[in-house]
Amino acid sequence: MKDGKLVYSSAAGRICRGCGQPERGCRCGRAAAEPVPVRPVAKLRMEKAGRSGKTVTVVFGLPNNAAFVKDLAADLKKACGTGGTATDDGVELQGDLRERVREILRAKGFQVKG
Ligand SMILES: [Zn+2]
Repeated sequence: MKDGKLVYSSAAGRICRGCGQPERGCRCGRAAAEPVPVRPVAKLRMEKAGRSGKTVTVVFGLPNNAAFVKDLAADLKKACGTGGTATDDGVELQGDLRERVREILRAKGFQVKG
């Protein structure tokens, strides 16, 4: 310690673990991930998907955190035994699963609206 100063590796800000860029220049979106609150809010809506007109249950209003949404999508698919996908702003599940999804989310500590 010549001059007693530490060299901060964070001089350029924190490095995104997703893409290796400084967080400000993050290209993968992970650095921008919102921290997930203890009681995240989830909203539910129904949509008709595509030309087939099949009903999908959409969970939206979630924290802007791709890893969190992806995990939640996997949990919900498993719990509901249905297909689904994580989207930019939430999770889509095949079928009218509002009641079921509401129960699952509440059990996970979500505030469910809609
Ligand atoms: Zn990144």
